[in-house]
Amino acid sequence: MKEKIRLFAKSLGITEFGVTLTAANKTVLVFLFPYYCGNKKGNISLYARSPDYHLIVKKYLEKIAGYIKSLEINISCEIYCDNNSLGERELAYTAGLGFYGKNRMLINPTYGSYFFIGCVICDGLILKADTPLNKICAGCGMCIKNCPGDALSENGFDITKCASELSQKKGELTEAEKQIILKSGFLWGCDICQNVCPHNKNIKLTPIADFKENLIFSLPEDDIVSLSGRAFLKKYTGRAFTWRGKNVLLRNIKIKTERISDNGNQNNNTSYKR
Ligand code: SF4
Ligand code: SF4
Repeated sequence: MKEKIRLFAKSLGITEFGVTLTAANKTVLVFLFPYYCGNKKGNISLYARSPDYHLIVKKYLEKIAGYIKSLEINISCEIYCDNNSLGERELAYTAGLGFYGKNRMLINPTYGSYFFIGCVICDGLILKADTPLNKICAGCGMCIKNCPGDALSENGFDITKCASELSQKKGELTEAEKQIILKSGFLWGCDICQNVCPHNKNIKLTPIADFKENLIFSLPEDDIVSLSGRAFLKKYTGRAFTWRGKNVLLRNIKIKTERISDNGNQNNNTSYKR
């Protein structure tokens, strides 16, 4: 059965598959959905350039769950992508799909850390669980050195200083928080701790067509400023960067434009420390 599932997933372009168990001993099928299609410069994070990954991952997981049920009618399946408290990253780790980096990302040997995780939890299906990879990250510290908010350290991760988190936070930001977004150079998200990681060099591009098509690399700032809230949502419907509303993006633009007019200086998100 495990081999049949592996082959079916592969026929959909999903090659990274592992099995683990929940605390309640339910079988969890874990799949990675790589999204890397090159690192063309832009002001939004790589993960948000394709149409919303939740919709794409769900579509594939539904196909896989349908296939499993076609093999054995008594199996019931629940699908998950970012919508549960199970801790998908840890499930993917225990299913042998990656190892942890100091940037707190899970790193897959073939696709690096640019992937989403989708799970199918099955009742009535017993499969042998996989084991974690016996591997650790290179430990170069580049992610820690280059983090614009000093959110990463040898001892942990402070999400309150993470540019990705702050760029999506609603409301007014403190001066220190604004500085972090400004330093990151991104309007939405932040990829710096992944971009500098040697495990993300020479990785394979995504084999999944949905992550290669209809990409937006940069959000035109004029568009966000000039479009009404409704027109903005209509134009960018089905995109991950719309889920917090237009005002969050407007605020991020304002942070940048205020600083440019203050000192005529613009940050560049490619000037990493070496
Ligand atoms: S996403 Fe950016 S700000 Fe957040 S930990 Fe990584 S480098 Fe730091
Ligand atoms: S940048 Fe270096 S220390 Fe950070 S996760 Fe990658 S290999 Fe590990």
